[in-house]
Order: sequence, then C-alpha cells, then structure tokens
Amino acid sequence: MARQKRDRNAASVSAPARSHSGRGTGAAQAESDHPIPVALPPIRSPQENSRCGFIALIGTPNVGKSTLINALVGAKVAIVSHKVQTTRMLLRGIAIAGRSQLIFVDTPGIFAPRRRLDRAMVASAWAGAHEADITGVLIDGQRGVDEHSIELLQKLAEIRQPKILLINKIDLVDKSVLLALARAANERSKFAATFMISALTGDGVADIKSWLAEHVPAGPWHYPQDQITDAPLRQLAAEITREKLYLRLHQELPYQSAVETDQWKELKDGSTRIEQTIYVERESQRKIVLGKGGQTIKAIGADARREIAEMIAAPVHLFLFVKVREHWGDDPDRYRGMGLEFPKQ
Ligand code: GDP
Ligand code: MG
Repeated sequence: MARQKRDRNAASVSAPARSHSGRGTGAAQAESDHPIPVALPPIRSPQENSRCGFIALIGTPNVGKSTLINALVGAKVAIVSHKVQTTRMLLRGIAIAGRSQLIFVDTPGIFAPRRRLDRAMVASAWAGAHEADITGVLIDGQRGVDEHSIELLQKLAEIRQPKILLINKIDLVDKSVLLALARAANERSKFAATFMISALTGDGVADIKSWLAEHVPAGPWHYPQDQITDAPLRQLAAEITREKLYLRLHQELPYQSAVETDQWKELKDGSTRIEQTIYVERESQRKIVLGKGGQTIKAIGADARREIAEMIAAPVHLFLFVKVREHWGDDPDRYRGMGLEFPKQ
C-alpha cells in the first residue's frame, strides 16, 4: 500500500551519462536472431541477491539534507539554499550501490511549526520517516546538539525502523568536537551507525552508501536503473525557478512564495516552451520580484532557463509570470500541488 502510493506520479529523469541508451533496448531485444546484439539491454536489478530500500533524510532546516541527496545521487535533484525551508515536498533521489538500489527521500526540515504551511511540511517530513526502511538523521556539526535537535532526537523514539546518525558539515568543525557530539546524540537516541560527513565536499558520502547497500531489505529494485528521481520534469523545473528566486531575493522575499509550471510544450524545432507562474502573497512582493523595469524577473528567468535547458538537454523558452494570490497559504489546492496534506487547522 505504502509502496503504491510512492509510485503515484513517477516520471523519470535519466542520469546524464546514460541518457537515452536505456530507452531503445526493446528494439535491440526484438532482433533476437542477430548474433551479437548491437545495444545490450541495460543491466536491471540483478535477479538474485538484489536489495532495495527507502531512506528518509530528516533534520532541522538548513542542516544539509538536500545537499546530501544530491551528493548521494551524484546529480542535482533537490534544491539547495541557505534560506531555510526551501524543500516542501518529499522528493526522491535514487542511487545504485552495488546490488542495491537506494531511494533517498528529501524531507522538509523539522522545526516548531506555527503557520499552516509549516505544519503541513513538518507533518510530511515525519510521515516520510515513518514510511522509510531506514532513517538518516542529520545533525549540523557546527551547530551541535542544540534545542531543536534535542527535540528531534527525542521524537525519533517513535520511529521503529533503524536510524543512522549523520553528522554533517565536518569541513567546518574540529574533529574533537565531533566525537563529543556523536556521543551526545547517541545517548539521546539509538543509532545503528554514525557517520561524519560533509555533504558539500562529498567527504564520507561513499561510506554511507556502502553501509546502506548492505542494510536495505532484500528485494527487487523499484525503479529502472537509469532513473535518478521520481519528480516529474515540470515539478523539477518549478523547483529550479524557485531556487533562483530565493538566490536573488533571499533578503526581501518571505519564503511563502510558490512557483507552478502551467505549460510545457515541446515544439517542432526541438525546443521546449515553458510557462511558469510565481505566486506571492502581496502586491509589494510582486514588485520586488519584478524589479526595476522587470530586471529582477529577467535575471531569475535567465538563470532558471539555463538550468532547465541543461536538465532536459534541449533549448528552452521560459516565460515567467508573477501573480498575487492572497492567503494562498490557506488554499487546499496549493497543498495538493506540492504533494502535501492540507492540515485542518
Ligand atoms: P536543508 O535545508 O537541510 O535541505 O539544507 P540544504 O541542503 O539546502 O543546505 C543548507 C546550506 O548548508 C546550503 O547553503 C549548503 O550549501 C550548506 N551545506 C550543506 N552541507 C554542507 C557541508 O557539508 N558543509 C558546508 N560547509 N556547508 C554545507
Ligand atoms: Mg532542503
């Protein structure tokens, strides 16, 4: 049941290196009397001994969950920002380690929620952890075990599945501090293993992968070998624009803004026409997003267009609109669009 739900809007983005090689294999197989197949079918999940599991990454906002997912997958699937709480939906990044397929779930940060949108995000993060086979708990090595992580560590007792402790940002801290931190966290919760990592430099990331490869449940792979995320392209494209928006306006813009992809059209010349709307809550915010003479929105559009084009490996015409939608934080439809449950209050 849980697994079925996970598949709901699966769409694939191929890993760059394998791009289209996995797609044409049906034809290669059909020519069975050909003595040497021209293109070998991709190696799917090995018949025997394969393993596959869901690993939720949880932690307070800004601890580096999205950066880590990207490092584990080896491609950018999640948006990273120094502005807190940019990840809203449960986004899956998929990696292969030996015989195992590891499906990482990026969750919104866990913090004390006040507004409705905050509550929906925190609930969705915990739901992600409860559904996973293994939960990776991130702690910021620089911040240490502060009051927010203490609360989180206490709540971990409710999660039955194995947990691993991931102390991140070790590039910023002294080794001696790390050991004390690992001890303090392990006293508060039971972890099957502890890793010291830097999601940014990639230090220690391979160790997590090999450990997980051995500890996820035995079973067939859930996704084709060349798939690296389950987010539909339109959603990823919206996330890219949202990231650019935050990068430009992190000071001025409250995080309660949303980007939706309204139109996605592949044109005859091989290019793609994409229309997106940026929703803000007030007219004053709309002006900020537009900028003087439309300069800000133009720059955001240029940044986003470049990255979306790279992602889909095709020229992109990106059209951005900015609309005011008051109280969209109380609109159930918007929550569904982000894959979140709408909290009753
Ligand atoms: P999330 O909110 O937990 O998803 O955190 P992000 O992945 O968006 O990262 C928040 C910020 O921390 C970004 O500016 C990242 O570049 C930074 N960051 C993440 N991991 C590391 C790390 O290992 N070392 C350092 N120095 N910065 C990191
Ligand atoms: Mg994030």
